This record gives sequence, structure tokens and C-alpha cells, in this order.
Amino acid sequence: MGIGPGEEFDVVLIGAGIMSATLGTLLRYLAPELSVAIFESRDTVASESSEAWNNAGTGHAALCELNYTPEKPDGTVGIDKAVNINEQFQESLAFWTYLVEQGKLAEPEGFIRRVPHMSFVTSEKNAAFLRARYEAMSRHPLFSSMQYTEDPAKIAEWAPLLMDGRAGGEKLAATRVERGTDVNFGSLTRKLLANFSDSLHLRHKVVKVRRASDRRWHVTVMNEATGVSAEIVSRFVFIGSGGAALLLLQDAGLKAGVGYGGFPVSGQWLRCTNQQVIERHAAKVYGKASVGAPPMSVPHLDTRVIDGKKELLFGPFAGFSTKFLKSGSYLDLIKSVTPGNLYPLLKAGYDNIPLTKYLIGEVMQTPEQRLESLRVFMPTARREDWELAIAGQRVQIIKPHHEKGGVLEFGTEVIREGDGSIAALLGASPGASTAVSIMLGMIGNGVNVLEGREDVAAKLQAIVPSLGKKLAEEPALLEEITRRSNAALGLG
Ligand SMILES: Cc1cc2nc3c(=O)[nH]c(=O)nc-3n(C[C@H](O)[C@H](O)[C@H](O)COP(=O)(O)OP(=O)(O)OC[C@H]3O[C@@H](n4cnc5c(N)ncnc54)[C@H](O)[C@@H]3O)c2cc1C
Repeated sequence: MGIGPGEEFDVVLIGAGIMSATLGTLLRYLAPELSVAIFESRDTVASESSEAWNNAGTGHAALCELNYTPEKPDGTVGIDKAVNINEQFQESLAFWTYLVEQGKLAEPEGFIRRVPHMSFVTSEKNAAFLRARYEAMSRHPLFSSMQYTEDPAKIAEWAPLLMDGRAGGEKLAATRVERGTDVNFGSLTRKLLANFSDSLHLRHKVVKVRRASDRRWHVTVMNEATGVSAEIVSRFVFIGSGGAALLLLQDAGLKAGVGYGGFPVSGQWLRCTNQQVIERHAAKVYGKASVGAPPMSVPHLDTRVIDGKKELLFGPFAGFSTKFLKSGSYLDLIKSVTPGNLYPLLKAGYDNIPLTKYLIGEVMQTPEQRLESLRVFMPTARREDWELAIAGQRVQIIKPHHEKGGVLEFGTEVIREGDGSIAALLGASPGASTAVSIMLGMIGNGVNVLEGREDVAAKLQAIVPSLGKKLAEEPALLEEITRRSNAALGLG
């Protein structure tokens, strides 16, 4: 679809990944009359981090990820972060449920499946941690169905590949929550954006974002097919360009983003090619990260369902690339360095030497070493059954810090202009699973095109009944939204 110079929109969404798709859907629900344009530089939607093979597809609900439950100095385990992430995922489930019930999101089995979530550890020390974690979590209503075992036969029942060929005598422990999910965020993005065929402009790259004296945003878009650029105008802009968001945020000159930088971490998987092996596994099994590893590099052996086909992957193995997108430029990192963020970048780099060492170690890994990591989970893994696949890029946030000078962060952060006329999403974790919560938070903080609307809060409450509530304190509500989402999303 073409775009003409000077065209005016209420909303411009940059990038066609899960974040823009979620925000666009929410805005259209809240204010259907708003004119929307979505610009995507590639020739398909969801071809970067949101594409199924570029991420792990875990519906992050903190059921299995050990990095969300830190061990405290007294040996107990903190579960606050896990509760928060689970509640955020409940918001995603509620929103998708609403869309399916309204006929706006077809065939949910194409994007979400039930896959049990497990944690699995070896050694006495790790087993003690997992037991303490289980004791803390299983008391909480959101995690009450969690099971724990140290019995090898039980683990073999839950996940036979973990036990096939394993020598006896090793201390093992595992937890399992049956109602975990595998989510194909690529498919979900495509389904959401199918409702925007009139607004979506593929092969249109946003090259400049400027605020003009009329207080509106002037966005220069280049048609990648013709090489012709046009400047359009918008009241509200969302920079949802994934890893590349930092560059556009800097270009737009957002005050709140001054001093921010990015640290790209690339990823690789081992992808199973043997269908018999794939069929013997039916879980997402998360282990413990190695020392120095960033939280998102926790290894896991993962059942996936992609385009109706069962798959198995192991990883991720972290790596380093200076690109901000998988299809980006090697100059991305250097282009992002400014006088304002140089000091935070250097300080964060200096303070994270174990991470640098870890990344170097990962990059230098031989295929045999990768296989050895896999064999910690699956002792019978054979090299000929696995191939290397490249995952998406994650650009971690580096930001100024009043004491440390600069810090590296592994979460996501919305950077917005105070008047709610522009916002950008930085960071990648927990990522797509919490897209709904992130976008609800952004709307809650104020988006100028929704100003003056009295009905926003009530409308949001209607689609996400748990909004602003603690599900742990509302057992009837938890039961009701679980029943509804199980029915609508086919997760019963
Ligand atoms: C290895 C890995 C594993 C992950 N595992 C999980 C997981 O298990 N669960 C989970 O919930 N999350 C996971 N994530 C995170 C999740 O994938 C991301 O948080 C999410 O996909 C980000 O969506 P997005 O819309 O912001 O970005 P993207 O999906 O990257 O979309 C950005 C889009 O913007 C386009 N674009 C870029 N620049 C421009 C421009 N100038 N003009 C126009 N278009 C532009 C890009 O082409 C792209 O299509 C993982 C990520 C990685 C990398």
C-alpha cells in the first residue's frame, strides 16, 4: 500500500512485531475512529524477534524459569518477581481470550498450546534450592499446582529424554506445572495484524522522526521497493522497531532516553532433526544458568509447536554481534554510541566483565562443547540429530546511573515523552509474553490520542478483568479467568 507525502495520521506504529500488533489492537478497541499507519521495513510481518524460531516461544509465567526466583542470603527463595510475571501473563491470556471470544483472533491453536513447564537441576546444592523454591511457590495460589520430585522414575515419567542413558547416583530434582504454554508469537502477530490490512505498509522503513513546531511528529518513511521517501505526520508515534528502537529513539531526541545505550546479545539454538527424538519429549525444561550468564541465557530443552508441527530445541547459546536486528547492520552498535551514552556504556562494560567473559566463552564454543551442554539435560543426545539455528537479537538496555555511572539491565523499559505523544520500547525480557501488560502500562501512563476519553479504564477492565488487582487475593476471579481462557484458547 502506498503512502503520500504530508499524509496525516493519529497513530504511527513503527515495526510490525508483537509489540506494535498488541498496541495497535488495544488502541483500535479503545478508539476505533483513530487513523493508524504501521510501517515495517521487511517484506513480511514478525520476521525479527517475534518470529517463532527467533525466540523460545515460552509463555513466560514464571512456572519454570529459575532466574525469576532468586535465592536470598538466608537460603529462602524470593518469589515476588515470579508472582509479578505470572500476573502479567494472566493479562496476556485474558486479552487473547477476549479477542477470540469477539471473533477478532481466529484459531488460537495456531499460536498457543499447552506444554508443561519443568525446572530440572543436578547436584545437592541445586536440589536444595529447587526444594526451597517449590516450598515457597506452591503455597501461592498462582503456583499451587506445582509438583516437585527427586525421584528419577518420576522425572523419567515427566520427561523421558532427561533420564535416558543417565548414570545412577547423581542427585536430581525437578518441578513440573502441567498448565504451561508454548506460544508462537510470529503466528499471533500475523493474526493480530490481519485486522490492519488497510493500515500496514510493508517494505517501508522509517528513517527519521522529528517533532515539528506544530507539536506533531513528522516521520520520514522510505519505500524500500522504490527508494522514494515521504514525510508523513502523526499525533502519536510508537517506536516498536525491536532491537533497532534505540536508534530511532536517539534520532527523535527523546529527553527521557538521553544517556541510554544498547548491548546486543545474539543467540543460537540446537534444533532437533530426528522426529523420533522430538516425539519423546513434551515439556519446556529450564535449568540453571552458568556463572556470569545473563538471565535470558538459561539453558532449556523445549518442546515447540510451530505451524502445527512438533519441534524440539535446546539453547540458547549466547553470542555477540554488533547488529541490533538479525537483519540489521554491523554498524548498529557503533552508530548508537553518542557523547551522552559513552560513559554509561564504558562503566556498564567495566562492571560486567564476567558477562563479557561468558559471552567470549559462548562464542568460542565448538559443536562438541554445545553438545556437552545439551547432554547435561539429555545424556543420549547424538550430534547427527541436531543442527545449529540462529535465534533473534536481544539488545539489552544500558542506562545512566547516579552512583555507578552506567548499568546494564535485562528487562524491558518504555521510554516516553511526558505529553504521551511518543514512546519507544527498549529491551527484550520477559518479552513477548508480557506485551499486553507493557502496552497496558504505557496506556495507563498516558497516550495523547486517548486524552479526554472517560471510558478507557472501564473498557480495559472489561477485557482484562484482573487489571489493577492481585489475583492471589481474588481466588474466584482467578478461577473465572482461568476457566474462560482455557475454553477460548483451547487450553483445558
Ligand atoms: C533468543 C530469544 C529468545 C526469546 N525467547 C522468548 C520467550 O521464550 N518468550 C517471550 O515471551 N519472549 C522471548 N523473547 C523476546 C521476544 O521475542 C521479544 O520481546 C519480542 O518479540 C519483541 O517484539 P517487538 O515487536 O518489540 O520486536 P520485533 O519482533 O523484533 O519487531 C520489530 C520490527 O520492527 C521492524 N523494524 C526495525 N526497524 C524499522 C524501521 N526503521 N522502520 C520500520 N520497521 C522497522 C523489524 O523489521 C521488525 O519486524 C526472546 C527473544 C530472543 C531474541
